[in-house]
Amino acid sequence: MMPNELRYLRPDSAEEAVAVWSAHTGARYLAGGTEIHTMARRSASYPVSALIDIKRIAEASALSIAKGRLTLGAALPLSAIADDGAFPLLTATIRGIADRTTRNRLSIGGNIAGMLPYREAILPLLLADALCLSIAPGSGSEPPLRREWRLRERFDKRLLLDPGELILSFSLPLAFAALPWSHRRRTRTGPVDYPLATLCLVRESGGFLLGVSGAHPYPVFASGADGAAALKALGAPKGDQRATAEYRAALMETMLSSALEELS
Ligand SMILES: Cc1cc2nc3c(=O)[nH]c(=O)nc-3n(C[C@H](O)[C@H](O)[C@H](O)COP(=O)(O)OP(=O)(O)OC[C@H]3O[C@@H](n4cnc5c(N)ncnc54)[C@H](O)[C@@H]3O)c2cc1C
Repeated sequence: MMPNELRYLRPDSAEEAVAVWSAHTGARYLAGGTEIHTMARRSASYPVSALIDIKRIAEASALSIAKGRLTLGAALPLSAIADDGAFPLLTATIRGIADRTTRNRLSIGGNIAGMLPYREAILPLLLADALCLSIAPGSGSEPPLRREWRLRERFDKRLLLDPGELILSFSLPLAFAALPWSHRRRTRTGPVDYPLATLCLVRESGGFLLGVSGAHPYPVFASGADGAAALKALGAPKGDQRATAEYRAALMETMLSSALEELS
Protein backbone atom coordinates (compact mmCIF):
# COMPACT_ATOMS: atom_id res chain seq x y z
CA MET A 1 0.00 0.00 0.00
CA MET A 2 1.25 3.53 -0.75
CA PRO A 3 1.75 5.14 2.68
CA ASN A 4 0.72 8.71 3.44
CA GLU A 5 4.29 9.62 4.19
CA LEU A 6 6.67 8.35 1.58
CA ARG A 7 10.30 9.43 1.33
CA TYR A 8 11.57 10.21 -2.16
CA LEU A 9 15.37 10.17 -2.46
CA ARG A 10 17.58 10.97 -5.43
CA PRO A 11 21.16 9.80 -4.82
CA ASP A 12 23.93 11.02 -7.13
CA SER A 13 26.06 7.90 -6.93
CA ALA A 14 25.64 4.13 -6.74
CA GLU A 15 27.40 4.02 -3.36
CA GLU A 16 24.98 6.63 -2.00
CA ALA A 17 22.00 4.66 -3.36
CA VAL A 18 22.90 1.46 -1.51
CA ALA A 19 23.69 3.44 1.67
CA VAL A 20 20.22 5.01 1.47
CA TRP A 21 18.66 1.56 0.87
CA SER A 22 20.42 0.20 3.99
CA ALA A 23 19.17 3.13 6.07
CA HIS A 24 15.47 2.72 5.13
CA THR A 25 13.54 -0.47 5.81
CA GLY A 26 11.08 -1.03 2.96
CA ALA A 27 12.97 1.15 0.48
CA ARG A 28 12.75 0.36 -3.24
CA TYR A 29 14.86 1.42 -6.18
CA LEU A 30 12.80 3.37 -8.68
CA ALA A 31 13.53 3.87 -12.38
CA GLY A 32 10.37 4.43 -14.45
CA GLY A 33 8.22 3.69 -11.40
CA THR A 34 5.40 2.11 -13.42
CA GLU A 35 5.44 -1.23 -11.65
CA ILE A 36 6.15 0.18 -8.19
CA HIS A 37 3.18 2.55 -8.39
CA THR A 38 0.83 -0.14 -9.70
CA MET A 39 1.90 -2.71 -7.12
CA ALA A 40 1.89 -0.29 -4.19
CA ARG A 41 -1.64 0.89 -4.98
CA ARG A 42 -3.04 -2.59 -5.56
CA SER A 43 -1.41 -4.73 -2.92
CA ALA A 44 -1.11 -4.35 0.84
CA SER A 45 1.65 -6.98 0.73
CA TYR A 46 3.91 -4.64 -1.29
CA PRO A 47 5.16 -2.24 1.37
CA VAL A 48 7.09 0.85 0.29
CA SER A 49 8.52 3.31 2.81
CA ALA A 50 11.00 5.12 0.57
CA LEU A 51 11.64 5.41 -3.15
CA ILE A 52 15.24 5.67 -4.30
CA ASP A 53 15.24 7.25 -7.75
CA ILE A 54 18.28 5.89 -9.61
CA LYS A 55 18.04 8.07 -12.73
CA ARG A 56 20.55 10.63 -11.45
CA ILE A 57 23.27 7.98 -11.14
CA ALA A 58 25.40 8.64 -14.23
CA GLU A 59 26.57 5.06 -14.80
CA ALA A 60 22.97 3.76 -14.62
CA SER A 61 21.80 6.27 -17.24
CA ALA A 62 24.61 6.09 -19.81
CA LEU A 63 24.78 4.30 -23.11
CA SER A 64 28.31 3.88 -24.40
CA ILE A 65 30.54 1.96 -26.76
CA ALA A 66 34.15 1.34 -25.70
CA LYS A 67 36.74 -1.37 -26.27
CA GLY A 68 34.44 -3.34 -28.52
CA ARG A 69 31.61 -3.51 -25.98
CA LEU A 70 28.20 -1.88 -25.78
CA THR A 71 27.18 -0.78 -22.27
CA LEU A 72 23.56 0.03 -21.40
CA GLY A 73 22.68 1.77 -18.15
CA ALA A 74 19.93 -0.04 -16.23
CA ALA A 75 17.87 3.15 -15.77
CA LEU A 76 17.75 3.92 -19.50
CA PRO A 77 14.22 4.06 -20.89
CA LEU A 78 13.45 1.26 -23.35
CA SER A 79 12.78 3.83 -26.09
CA ALA A 80 16.29 5.36 -25.74
CA ILE A 81 17.91 1.96 -26.24
CA ALA A 82 15.67 1.12 -29.19
CA ASP A 83 16.32 4.50 -30.82
CA ASP A 84 20.07 4.11 -30.45
CA GLY A 85 19.91 0.87 -32.42
CA ALA A 86 23.42 -0.39 -31.62
CA PHE A 87 22.00 -3.86 -30.86
CA PRO A 88 19.37 -4.46 -33.56
CA LEU A 89 17.88 -7.61 -31.97
CA LEU A 90 17.36 -5.71 -28.71
CA THR A 91 15.81 -2.81 -30.63
CA ALA A 92 13.33 -5.18 -32.34
CA THR A 93 12.50 -6.90 -29.04
CA ILE A 94 11.96 -3.62 -27.19
CA ARG A 95 9.72 -2.25 -29.93
CA GLY A 96 7.35 -5.15 -29.22
CA ILE A 97 6.89 -4.00 -25.60
CA ALA A 98 3.91 -1.68 -24.88
CA ASP A 99 3.57 1.50 -26.99
CA ARG A 100 6.05 4.27 -27.67
CA THR A 101 4.78 6.62 -24.94
CA THR A 102 4.95 3.87 -22.33
CA ARG A 103 8.41 2.79 -23.50
CA ASN A 104 9.61 6.33 -22.82
CA ARG A 105 8.98 5.53 -19.19
CA LEU A 106 9.81 1.82 -18.76
CA SER A 107 13.46 1.17 -17.94
CA ILE A 108 15.48 -1.83 -19.05
CA GLY A 109 16.48 -2.58 -15.44
CA GLY A 110 12.83 -2.46 -14.37
CA ASN A 111 11.83 -4.78 -17.20
CA ILE A 112 14.43 -7.33 -16.14
CA ALA A 113 14.25 -6.97 -12.33
CA GLY A 114 10.48 -6.40 -12.17
CA MET A 115 7.75 -8.84 -11.18
CA LEU A 116 5.98 -9.31 -14.51
CA PRO A 117 6.93 -12.70 -15.95
CA TYR A 118 7.57 -11.58 -19.56
CA ARG A 119 10.83 -9.63 -19.19
CA GLU A 120 11.21 -9.63 -22.95
CA ALA A 121 14.24 -7.33 -22.93
CA ILE A 122 16.30 -9.97 -21.17
CA LEU A 123 16.14 -12.37 -24.14
CA PRO A 124 18.74 -10.65 -26.40
CA LEU A 125 20.98 -10.07 -23.37
CA LEU A 126 20.85 -13.74 -22.35
CA LEU A 127 21.63 -14.82 -25.91
CA ALA A 128 24.55 -12.36 -25.99
CA ASP A 129 25.89 -13.79 -22.70
CA ALA A 130 25.82 -10.21 -21.41
CA LEU A 131 27.60 -9.08 -18.26
CA CYS A 132 25.79 -7.21 -15.53
CA LEU A 133 27.47 -4.66 -13.24
CA SER A 134 25.80 -4.33 -9.85
CA ILE A 135 26.42 -2.89 -6.41
CA ALA A 136 25.14 -4.32 -3.14
CA PRO A 137 25.30 -3.05 0.44
CA GLY A 138 28.32 -4.37 2.33
CA SER A 139 27.64 -6.40 5.44
CA GLY A 140 28.14 -4.52 8.72
CA SER A 141 30.89 -1.92 8.36
CA GLU A 142 32.06 -3.36 5.02
CA PRO A 143 31.96 -0.99 2.01
CA PRO A 144 29.40 -1.64 -0.77
CA LEU A 145 30.28 -4.54 -3.04
CA ARG A 146 30.61 -3.84 -6.76
CA ARG A 147 30.77 -6.86 -9.02
CA GLU A 148 30.39 -7.84 -12.64
CA TRP A 149 28.76 -11.17 -13.40
CA ARG A 150 27.30 -13.14 -16.28
CA LEU A 151 23.57 -12.56 -16.55
CA ARG A 152 23.10 -16.24 -17.41
CA GLU A 153 24.68 -17.31 -14.13
CA ARG A 154 22.16 -15.51 -11.96
CA PHE A 155 19.08 -15.98 -14.09
CA ASP A 156 16.93 -18.87 -12.92
CA LYS A 157 13.33 -18.13 -13.96
CA ARG A 158 14.04 -14.60 -12.74
CA LEU A 159 17.11 -12.56 -11.91
CA LEU A 160 18.44 -13.59 -8.51
CA LEU A 161 19.51 -10.36 -6.80
CA ASP A 162 20.71 -10.05 -3.22
CA PRO A 163 18.80 -7.77 -0.82
CA GLY A 164 19.49 -4.16 -1.74
CA GLU A 165 21.47 -5.09 -4.84
CA LEU A 166 21.22 -2.45 -7.54
CA ILE A 167 21.85 -3.20 -11.21
CA LEU A 168 23.95 -0.45 -12.76
CA SER A 169 24.44 -1.64 -16.33
CA PHE A 170 24.54 -4.46 -18.85
CA SER A 171 27.32 -4.94 -21.38
CA LEU A 172 27.92 -7.17 -24.38
CA PRO A 173 30.44 -7.57 -27.21
CA LEU A 174 29.57 -5.43 -30.23
CA ALA A 175 30.57 -8.40 -32.39
CA PHE A 176 27.54 -10.28 -31.05
CA ALA A 177 25.21 -7.45 -32.01
CA ALA A 178 26.37 -7.88 -35.62
CA LEU A 179 25.44 -11.59 -35.87
CA PRO A 180 22.45 -12.59 -38.07
CA TRP A 181 19.25 -12.45 -36.03
CA SER A 182 15.51 -12.75 -36.31
CA HIS A 183 12.64 -11.69 -34.04
CA ARG A 184 9.02 -12.83 -34.00
CA ARG A 185 6.21 -11.82 -31.63
CA ARG A 186 2.60 -12.98 -31.49
CA THR A 187 -0.14 -11.67 -29.19
CA ARG A 188 -3.74 -12.61 -28.72
CA THR A 189 -5.24 -9.21 -29.57
CA GLY A 190 -3.20 -6.47 -31.28
CA PRO A 191 0.41 -5.28 -31.17
CA VAL A 192 0.03 -3.68 -27.70
CA ASP A 193 -0.56 -6.81 -25.64
CA TYR A 194 1.52 -9.26 -23.66
CA PRO A 195 3.04 -11.92 -25.89
CA LEU A 196 1.69 -15.42 -26.41
CA ALA A 197 5.23 -15.95 -27.57
CA THR A 198 8.19 -13.72 -28.38
CA LEU A 199 11.03 -15.47 -30.14
CA CYS A 200 14.61 -14.22 -30.58
CA LEU A 201 16.92 -16.26 -32.81
CA VAL A 202 20.63 -15.69 -33.49
CA ARG A 203 22.81 -17.66 -35.89
CA GLU A 204 26.38 -18.15 -34.71
CA SER A 205 29.21 -20.32 -35.96
CA GLY A 206 28.25 -23.43 -33.96
CA GLY A 207 24.50 -23.29 -34.62
CA PHE A 208 21.63 -21.26 -33.19
CA LEU A 209 20.76 -19.43 -29.99
CA LEU A 210 17.07 -19.23 -29.21
CA GLY A 211 15.21 -17.25 -26.52
CA VAL A 212 11.47 -17.24 -25.88
CA SER A 213 9.21 -15.20 -23.59
CA GLY A 214 5.48 -15.62 -22.98
CA ALA A 215 5.21 -19.29 -23.92
CA HIS A 216 6.59 -20.58 -20.61
CA PRO A 217 6.02 -19.19 -17.10
CA TYR A 218 9.34 -17.28 -17.42
CA PRO A 219 11.82 -16.39 -20.19
CA VAL A 220 13.79 -19.39 -21.47
CA PHE A 221 16.80 -19.76 -23.74
CA ALA A 222 18.79 -22.59 -25.28
CA SER A 223 21.27 -23.32 -28.03
CA GLY A 224 21.36 -26.07 -30.63
CA ALA A 225 23.14 -27.20 -33.76
CA ASP A 226 19.90 -26.44 -35.58
CA GLY A 227 16.73 -24.52 -34.74
CA ALA A 228 14.66 -27.61 -33.99
CA ALA A 229 17.22 -28.84 -31.43
CA ALA A 230 17.21 -25.45 -29.71
CA LEU A 231 13.39 -25.38 -29.64
CA LYS A 232 13.25 -28.88 -28.14
CA ALA A 233 15.75 -27.86 -25.45
CA LEU A 234 13.41 -25.08 -24.27
CA GLY A 235 10.90 -27.64 -22.98
CA ALA A 236 7.12 -27.78 -23.27
CA PRO A 237 5.19 -24.50 -23.31
CA LYS A 238 2.49 -23.59 -20.78
CA GLY A 239 -1.26 -23.55 -21.29
CA ASP A 240 -3.49 -20.91 -19.72
CA GLN A 241 -6.70 -18.97 -20.36
CA ARG A 242 -5.03 -17.08 -23.21
CA ALA A 243 -3.86 -20.13 -25.20
CA THR A 244 -3.46 -23.86 -24.76
CA ALA A 245 -0.05 -25.50 -24.52
CA GLU A 246 -0.71 -27.21 -27.88
CA TYR A 247 -1.51 -23.89 -29.53
CA ARG A 248 1.66 -22.29 -28.17
CA ALA A 249 3.76 -25.30 -29.27
CA ALA A 250 2.38 -25.03 -32.81
CA LEU A 251 2.82 -21.24 -32.76
CA MET A 252 6.47 -21.51 -31.75
CA GLU A 253 7.15 -24.05 -34.52
CA THR A 254 5.62 -21.71 -37.09
CA MET A 255 7.51 -18.70 -35.73
CA LEU A 256 10.78 -20.61 -35.66
CA SER A 257 10.32 -21.90 -39.17
CA SER A 258 9.76 -18.39 -40.58
CA ALA A 259 12.69 -17.03 -38.51
CA LEU A 260 14.98 -19.76 -39.86
CA GLU A 261 13.81 -19.00 -43.39
CA GLU A 262 14.72 -15.35 -42.85
CA LEU A 263 18.23 -16.36 -41.78
CA SER A 264 18.81 -18.90 -44.56
C1 LIG B 1 1.43 -0.62 -20.08
C2 LIG B 1 2.53 -1.63 -19.86
C3 LIG B 1 2.74 -2.62 -20.80
C4 LIG B 1 3.77 -3.56 -20.63
N1 LIG B 1 3.98 -4.51 -21.58
C5 LIG B 1 5.03 -5.37 -21.45
C6 LIG B 1 5.31 -6.34 -22.45
O1 LIG B 1 4.60 -6.46 -23.44
N2 LIG B 1 6.41 -7.13 -22.28
C7 LIG B 1 7.23 -7.04 -21.18
O2 LIG B 1 8.23 -7.76 -21.09
N3 LIG B 1 6.95 -6.15 -20.19
C8 LIG B 1 5.89 -5.34 -20.31
N4 LIG B 1 5.61 -4.44 -19.31
C9 LIG B 1 6.40 -4.52 -18.08
C10 LIG B 1 7.45 -3.49 -18.03
O3 LIG B 1 8.42 -3.65 -19.05
C11 LIG B 1 8.12 -3.51 -16.68
O4 LIG B 1 7.19 -3.60 -15.64
C12 LIG B 1 8.85 -2.20 -16.63
O5 LIG B 1 9.92 -2.21 -17.51
C13 LIG B 1 9.15 -1.68 -15.36
O6 LIG B 1 10.03 -0.59 -15.60
P1 LIG B 1 10.08 0.61 -14.63
O7 LIG B 1 11.32 1.36 -14.95
O8 LIG B 1 8.80 1.38 -14.64
O9 LIG B 1 10.25 -0.18 -13.26
P2 LIG B 1 10.03 0.31 -11.73
O10 LIG B 1 8.56 0.34 -11.41
O11 LIG B 1 10.84 1.56 -11.52
O12 LIG B 1 10.74 -0.90 -11.00
C14 LIG B 1 10.21 -2.22 -11.09
C15 LIG B 1 10.92 -3.11 -10.06
O13 LIG B 1 12.28 -3.32 -10.46
C16 LIG B 1 13.17 -2.81 -9.45
N5 LIG B 1 14.25 -2.15 -10.16
C17 LIG B 1 14.14 -1.20 -11.12
N6 LIG B 1 15.36 -0.88 -11.57
C18 LIG B 1 16.25 -1.64 -10.88
C19 LIG B 1 17.68 -1.76 -10.89
N7 LIG B 1 18.43 -1.02 -11.73
N8 LIG B 1 18.26 -2.65 -10.05
C20 LIG B 1 17.50 -3.40 -9.22
N9 LIG B 1 16.17 -3.33 -9.14
C21 LIG B 1 15.55 -2.45 -9.97
C22 LIG B 1 12.35 -1.84 -8.61
O14 LIG B 1 12.82 -1.70 -7.30
C23 LIG B 1 10.97 -2.51 -8.65
O15 LIG B 1 10.93 -3.56 -7.71
C24 LIG B 1 4.59 -3.49 -19.45
C25 LIG B 1 4.37 -2.49 -18.51
C26 LIG B 1 3.36 -1.56 -18.70
C27 LIG B 1 3.15 -0.49 -17.66
